Amino acid sequence: MVVAANFKTNHTRASTTEFISFVNDFIANGNDKHQVRIYPCATAFDNFTLQSVCKVGAQNFYPVDNGSFTGEVGFDQLAEFDIDSLLIGHSERRHILGESQEFIARKFNFAKERNKEIIYCVGEPLAVREAGIEAVMQYLWEQFSDIDITYPRLIVAYEPVWAIGTGLVANIEDIAQTHARLREKIDAPLLYGGSVKVENISEILGVANCDGVLVGTASWQKEAFCNMIKLAQMIQ
Ligand code: PEP
Repeated sequence: MVVAANFKTNHTRASTTEFISFVNDFIANGNDKHQVRIYPCATAFDNFTLQSVCKVGAQNFYPVDNGSFTGEVGFDQLAEFDIDSLLIGHSERRHILGESQEFIARKFNFAKERNKEIIYCVGEPLAVREAGIEAVMQYLWEQFSDIDITYPRLIVAYEPVWAIGTGLVANIEDIAQTHARLREKIDAPLLYGGSVKVENISEILGVANCDGVLVGTASWQKEAFCNMIKLAQMIQ
């Protein structure tokens, strides 16, 4: 199982260091049953000493080792901090930052060639969800175009766009049905993301084929994130 925190554009370098040290101590204290991932802002990367189940990863990168791409971060810069885990396809990058499926697939293939762990995010907008499960699955499969779903270091995060950062959570039956449909073709771990918090994580992790969670807003508070790690420990 994976419990992952996406900081988005939150926390400073100082507060990230404090967060990671707090969470790492918590894991070291017998809370190491599951994998933990933390995706802070790139400005907060450092050479953290971490428990083996915990990795600090990158929310974003440009698919080059280095070059002339003003404002971007390439793999040479990530390598300085031993970054091994990457988020790709997050809905905020697709819908706010305008990343196309073609560009996302380019990022995926660049990371895959370098054998990085990839949390690959997919999710449908509300109008598609309202059109029913077949429309949802058609939309999601399009987000897998040019993506190697057999890549051994792939983790998929199903994150309905309308549930991200809104406080709205997909209902449990819809999560179960969507994960079951994804599982028909995908062997990789399947996470759910979309307003996961202390109050609902146990129910969500109890869904068949749900192998973990990607948490935004509710993960930014270190005590809450540790509570979620603790609740995940109690599931299996
Ligand atoms: C996310 O950023 O992937 C996410 C699921 O955010 P939130 O938990 O705030 O909905």
